[in-house]
Amino acid sequence: MPYGEFFIPNIDMQIFLRMFESVLAENKFKVKERKMVSQNEIFVKAVWGSKLKAFLLKQIMPFANFLKSAQRAGCEASVAQVPGGVVLRMYIVPYMELFDKKEMFLLSQSVVEKWTDERLTTELWEKVINSLMQKGIQLMQVKMCPNCKARNPPDARYCVSCGKEIG
Ligand SMILES: [Zn+2]
Repeated sequence: MPYGEFFIPNIDMQIFLRMFESVLAENKFKVKERKMVSQNEIFVKAVWGSKLKAFLLKQIMPFANFLKSAQRAGCEASVAQVPGGVVLRMYIVPYMELFDKKEMFLLSQSVVEKWTDERLTTELWEKVINSLMQKGIQLMQVKMCPNCKARNPPDARYCVSCGKEIG
């Protein structure tokens, strides 16, 4: 399932969060949960499931499986304020039909479902990333501190958390 970490320079966490949530809404995600993880970090969970289903069903009619299970997916993201910008960490995960929980391969998913889930989550991932870039959001690579695993801006020479030189 798609996962990524990005550094977005020169932006406030709350402002970015509003843009991020509007991008999710544009792509048919509904925000279900938003909570402060710490003073500088917010967790957002959004659920997707609807329109693309019809499109997918049309494409995969030969497999009866797709008719009984609607496709759903979720986005789980953390938005954290760091010096110089914001760090976004984001997953797009397949969700079970009735519960907003991650699917567990071979327990709740058939192999065929797994295949479409992957196609769906990859497609949703690309849509969200493209929408963010279209809004002028600069998605840069995060530099992780080898010492304390803190996430730093791409041009950081010293870790914002432990102060060690990170090149
Ligand atoms: Zn560090």
